[in-house]
Amino acid sequence: MIVVSGIQPTGRFHWGNYFGAIKQYVELQDQADASYYFIANLHALTTVRDPEVLRRNTIDAAIDLLALGINPDRATLFVQSDVPEVTQLCWLLMTCTPMGLLERCHAYKDKKAKGLPADAGLFTYPVLMAADILAYDADTVPVGEDQIQHIEVCRDIAGSFNHLYGEVFVMPRAKIMEKAARVPGTDGEKMSKSYNNTIGIFDDPKVVRKTIMRIVTDSRPIHEPKDPETDHLFQLYSLFVGEKEREAMAARYRAGGFGYGEVKQALADAAEKYFAEAREYRKELEAKPQFVREVLGDGAAMARKKAAEVLARAQAACGIKYA
Ligand code: ATP
Ligand code: MG
Repeated sequence: MIVVSGIQPTGRFHWGNYFGAIKQYVELQDQADASYYFIANLHALTTVRDPEVLRRNTIDAAIDLLALGINPDRATLFVQSDVPEVTQLCWLLMTCTPMGLLERCHAYKDKKAKGLPADAGLFTYPVLMAADILAYDADTVPVGEDQIQHIEVCRDIAGSFNHLYGEVFVMPRAKIMEKAARVPGTDGEKMSKSYNNTIGIFDDPKVVRKTIMRIVTDSRPIHEPKDPETDHLFQLYSLFVGEKEREAMAARYRAGGFGYGEVKQALADAAEKYFAEAREYRKELEAKPQFVREVLGDGAAMARKKAAEVLARAQAACGIKYA
């Protein structure tokens, strides 16, 4: 199994990013034959327009990922732009990508529907993503359910290239972690940087607690029994605790007679405990910038080696290598 996945440095990581993506990265690095995890700074360029912010976010993302358990001895961790072969491959794929395929993609469609200006970078975003996946012969792409469409697009593009030029690319598959496929935000909608409803993984625990207190709940009287399965506060709590605690909380929901404030406190305690070790390790990493740079340098070298091999294969197949 060859795993690849990227995460954008568009802001600090939140619970949705962790349970929807990063946690799986950590689990898969031990199961996979090879895993490639990259910080998608080229993709982020379609939204982050402040160079200083992009630089800072990129480093922060690397530190966060290491703190959360990406092990550079097991996984290849690197920054997208450090592998120029991917952007070269992107062009080859672009010539096999029907316009209609991209016009149907959510990110672009949603922005257009809102009347927001969309650049060609946003429009062709899924093609760069396809290049990111195909460049490493990956067969498994761990993602949240919002990314399924983009994996389908990647498969379509790989399919048309292969149809034209022979079996050049490996067909990748999305790997969704069902339980956490959609982590709700403070308003009950999907947690997302763009919706301003996030809870940060490495925010100060006091700030996290305050944010949790702001989570929107229904206003039914406290003595009424509630269905835990449809409650987003319960869904969040479930992410941080084991089966026993989850069941105990579910029983309290069904029995009624308590307030959401209690659940929020329990959630804040559980979350603080859950990320305590990562928070400590993050502090250590923050004090070792040279180590982080080395990890990214080594990761890029490894990734380039593989991407160069796949690029050469694709170039040979389509006649770009002429000598
Ligand atoms: P944006 O609002 O800019 O799209 P985001 O907060 O949705 O940002 P992304 O960079 O799009 O974050 O997502 C990074 C990874 O985290 C992706 O694999 C995505 O599927 C996953 N992810 C993001 N939000 C959630 C969520 N609420 N639940 C589950 N997975 C999520
Ligand atoms: Mg998103």
